[in-house]
Amino acid sequence: MSFDPYAARSDFPILERTNRGKPLVYLDTAASAQKPRAVIDAISDCYENHYANIHRGVYELSERITRMHEEAREKVAAFLGAAESREIVFTRNATESINLVAASWGRQNLAAGDEVVITTLEHHANIVPWQLLCEEKNARLRVVPINDAGELEMHSFEAMLSERTRIVAASHVSNALGTINPVRKIVAIAHERGIPVLLDGAQAVPRFGVDVRELGCDFYVFSGHKLYGPSGMGVLYGRAELLEAMAPYQSGGDMIETVSFEKSTFKSAPYKFEAGTPDIAGAIGLGAAIDYLAGIGLDAIEHHELELTAYGKELLEAIPEVRLIGTAAKKTGVLSFVVEGIHPHDLGTILDMEGVAIRAGHHCAQPLMERFDVPATARASLGLYNIREDLDHLIAGLHKAIEMFR
Ligand code: PMP
Repeated sequence: MSFDPYAARSDFPILERTNRGKPLVYLDTAASAQKPRAVIDAISDCYENHYANIHRGVYELSERITRMHEEAREKVAAFLGAAESREIVFTRNATESINLVAASWGRQNLAAGDEVVITTLEHHANIVPWQLLCEEKNARLRVVPINDAGELEMHSFEAMLSERTRIVAASHVSNALGTINPVRKIVAIAHERGIPVLLDGAQAVPRFGVDVRELGCDFYVFSGHKLYGPSGMGVLYGRAELLEAMAPYQSGGDMIETVSFEKSTFKSAPYKFEAGTPDIAGAIGLGAAIDYLAGIGLDAIEHHELELTAYGKELLEAIPEVRLIGTAAKKTGVLSFVVEGIHPHDLGTILDMEGVAIRAGHHCAQPLMERFDVPATARASLGLYNIREDLDHLIAGLHKAIEMFR
């Protein structure tokens, strides 16, 4: 499928805006993606023409919006290659999806002395919930090391698994380095030992096609806002068998079958995990984002981002003052770096004056920063609407900054 990023840019109204009076060069898609008109329109249409609460009304409007909400779930199920739409739980974001698994599955399945295996590459969202669970259960959090390129040490991973390991939780793509982890291998190795695997796909789903059944994972999480959809909308995929055996995470309205003051009974998955009124328009907006991406084709987006990543890497490597952090053989979408003598925050500020929006900081991955012995990095991250000229602007800004600090 041929994909024209220059044409796709006109789908994103915000790209016509300025930043500090300069044309906006948006290089922070790993933090959150901008929204195409199709998503904005679907959300407006929901509020203008269809809005009511779901599941409750007996009137036409409520029946219709309930159907639209469920259609969005079916779109997500198809997008992830799930066997059934009941395997899709709507949450607020990837963070809440991981918390749900840690709090529900984790509490039910961990005991003192058990172990949870994560990796050095994880976002705080895939560290802290497990850490708290381990503290509560007197269990142990074990961390797979990485090499200097930012790739997992798979021998250590294999050696770390034991009869005490209850779950493996790993990112599909690292938000701070862009490393694409060998998740198929991770799942295969863990499953050989009967250990379930949660994959954090927050940075993967916007960049290439994901099929949870092909990967074989037990849980898969992502955030709608990184998938060109609305914020406040997230997804947990869980194998039906696991979700059915899990206790509710939050409780209240909409997730119950019956309530009495003595005892309540709950709906089956996914509804027992969706207490209270959800982000109805958010689900519909997420469905629209999935339709939009299907219209372009994730293969085309993957190809485009890999090509741009290689271009950016080449440009950055040509600057002697720049040190790339994260040089995995398989990486995409994220260029993390430090510049000799310039703090990443100063760099971010100087680039901002040029209209270039990057992220500077620890990227919610403090242990990873420690591993590379840096307090922070500058991070340029790519989306489907980025073009070579965006990276040229970044490089021009970097040269300016280097001159200023000379
Ligand atoms: N995991 C990864 C890999 C991420 O990049 C992010 C967001 N930066 C998260 C989890 C958390 O996403 P959210 O804040 O949307 O819950």
